[in-house]
Amino acid sequence: MFDYLIVGAGFAGSVIAERLANEAGKKVLIIDTRNHIGGNAYDHYDNHGILVHKYGPHIFHTNSRPVFQYLSRFTDWRPYEHRVLASVDGQLLPIPINLNTVNKLYGLNLTSFEVEDFFAKLAEPMEYIRTSEDVVVSKVGRELYEKFFHNYTRKQWGIDPSELDKSVIARVPTRTNRDDRYFTDTYQAMPLHGYTRMFEKMLGHPNIKVMLNTDYREIENIIPYGEMIYTGPVDSYFNYCYGKLPYRSLEFKHETLNVPVHQVAPVVNYPNEHLYTRCTEFKYLTGQEHLKTSIVYEYPQAEGDPYYPVPRPENAEIYKKYKALADATPGVSFVGRLATYRYYNMDQVVAQALTTYTQIITKPVIELAGHLNDSVSNLSFNEVAAATAPLEVAVANGNGKSVSH
Ligand code: FAD
Ligand code: UDP
Repeated sequence: MFDYLIVGAGFAGSVIAERLANEAGKKVLIIDTRNHIGGNAYDHYDNHGILVHKYGPHIFHTNSRPVFQYLSRFTDWRPYEHRVLASVDGQLLPIPINLNTVNKLYGLNLTSFEVEDFFAKLAEPMEYIRTSEDVVVSKVGRELYEKFFHNYTRKQWGIDPSELDKSVIARVPTRTNRDDRYFTDTYQAMPLHGYTRMFEKMLGHPNIKVMLNTDYREIENIIPYGEMIYTGPVDSYFNYCYGKLPYRSLEFKHETLNVPVHQVAPVVNYPNEHLYTRCTEFKYLTGQEHLKTSIVYEYPQAEGDPYYPVPRPENAEIYKKYKALADATPGVSFVGRLATYRYYNMDQVVAQALTTYTQIITKPVIELAGHLNDSVSNLSFNEVAAATAPLEVAVANGNGKSVSH
């Protein structure tokens, strides 16, 4: 008998499986409908021997030292700072918009101070920032919004930015300096040998059994288990009883080209041209050297595998109902991007999973002393991390050699 059945072998499921087996000594069955572990972060060598991300570019970045330290148990790292160019008005310009973006776009030579004034003159002041449109227009005005954000967002989400929660576009800042990194997090690195290798290490414990190509519904009444951790779409678990929660999907078109380099940046965004949103060239991300190069185009679509929850008020209302059902379902914990309907990055999912793990293993105590319930569920991630053993963090330098920090 398994102590836990974990549905989904992505970050959420794998982190909890690893903790339950390694730290709590539990027996775990982790199951996935796909034919591989790693969820959307899965990577593999394609037919030409180039390491690619099957479900689009995954760049690891976090400000959380505990999350970085936790993952460092399972991988060394290749330092990597991500950079993106946007194809706008016939030029390739840095996105997030920065001083260089404005100077190149308009043929100007502004300083950081001057560009602040420039933005201020274009900005449309608003009392209340509610939507993704408001975020950009209130900061840099309508023209830059149209050039960089409006069409990309319509393409990506299938709705206008004025209908999307402000948190979506707020992921992309505006800068008045020349910093052209996509992220400014303290820790930015790629798993040295790829994500899948890292997941293999996480799930390598003898107490963990992995079952692929299987929907949990096929086995839940056949294989005995104690509790369930569910990381699939929450609406599917409850048979869509409150209707379908919209998840945005993508079609990935992978290609390998007979040239060593295809484009001048790891990712090029196409806000105003093509049906795809962006093109990623993987060798920039992985540092791999190869005579050929592999790229992927992302075509947004409504149907297909669920990749993105769609943050907008009416969806939040539907999710609230499912959340109430989930909270009232004993013996099942809902974790991860699909099960909690949150537009989470990988590090946020890892943090959420570690917090959930702590809640799960402290539950008998909670049941005995119900009044402690609130304080336990409000544990901050730092408290959770402090409870785990201190770690030695190995970070790879540019040559792939490991150095201890
Ligand atoms: P998932 O990885 O989706 O795992 C859930 C698993 O559950 C899936 O493998 C699914 O097959 C399985 N499952 C579902 N239903 C069932 C069922 N009924 N039975 C059995 N198995 C089931 N994050 C970053 O930090 N940086 C990035 O650069 C980044 N880029 C991204 C790019 C794209 C195109 C996408 C889509 C996401 C990106 N993310 C990125 C987000 C990242 O993918 C997620 O945060 C993370 O993978 C979520 O992990 P998860 O375990 O919650 O979900
Ligand atoms: N976005 C945009 N233009 C860009 C880049 C991003 O309009 O060139 C908007 C778009 O709505 C996108 C959101 O900002 O979905 C968040 O961008 P991010 O790069 O974080 O998206 P992800 O990598 O999660 O797909």
